[in-house]
Amino acid sequence: MAEKNKKIIIAGPCAIETKRQFFETLEKIYKYTDVIRCGAWKARTSPHSYSGQGEKSLEWIQEAQEKYNICCAIEVGTEKHINLALKYKVRNFWIGARTTSNPFAVEEISQNLKNENIELWIKNPIFPDLKLWIGAIERFKKNKNNSIKLIHRGFFLENIRKYRNHPRWDLLEKIQEKYPNMPVICDPSHIAGKRDLIQGICEKALEYQVDGFMIEVHHKPNEALSDAQQQLCPKQFKNLLLNLNLK
Ligand code: PEP
Ligand code: MN
Repeated sequence: MAEKNKKIIIAGPCAIETKRQFFETLEKIYKYTDVIRCGAWKARTSPHSYSGQGEKSLEWIQEAQEKYNICCAIEVGTEKHINLALKYKVRNFWIGARTTSNPFAVEEISQNLKNENIELWIKNPIFPDLKLWIGAIERFKKNKNNSIKLIHRGFFLENIRKYRNHPRWDLLEKIQEKYPNMPVICDPSHIAGKRDLIQGICEKALEYQVDGFMIEVHHKPNEALSDAQQQLCPKQFKNLLLNLNLK
């Protein structure tokens, strides 16, 4: 049998909705992931969209980390998010695409995480502006204790038909060339926008030798309160790993 591709796997729901939804999803996937992704606060474009359970979900995250002996990662966008997350023993963070586009916010987050020994992942900005991504990376690079990875989640372009966000593989290549020692994780869920397109994006990303994948998984994706069309159910997630010869 061919040797398995060794990649970092990050999986979990787009957002935590209820304790039950979170634990039922985790129960089915924790053995197949290196880190769980989950959202406590969601940076939504519209204030009318579901935006997470906030501090209440951090209690569930702390409980899950102990129960499954696994790390959970959340998006942080403000000093308050960081202080609360650290209080509940969360030490894996990502900077979302909307936040990467805002140098004031990035600087504030970087200052607040300056002395923390944490995992920090920086998503590309919404628009295909490599300088904004590089600016955010440089703001964290000076934090010697932050272990940095990059997340390629595609870019908003007008008139995209197939995908929710254009992969712009050329920009992925450019960032890999500029930071050859920084692992890059592909987020096919936010590139695709539809679950059927996820495997094709992963296959293409493997050609670019990405270091791992961040994938949205929900125990009942069709009932999800955010990103319902792109989340995989646990079975589809496990099949994806098998098909890609991962894990
Ligand atoms: C997410 O990861 O759930 C998310 C909101 O992603 P992005 O910042 O890439 O849009
Ligand atoms: Mn999402």
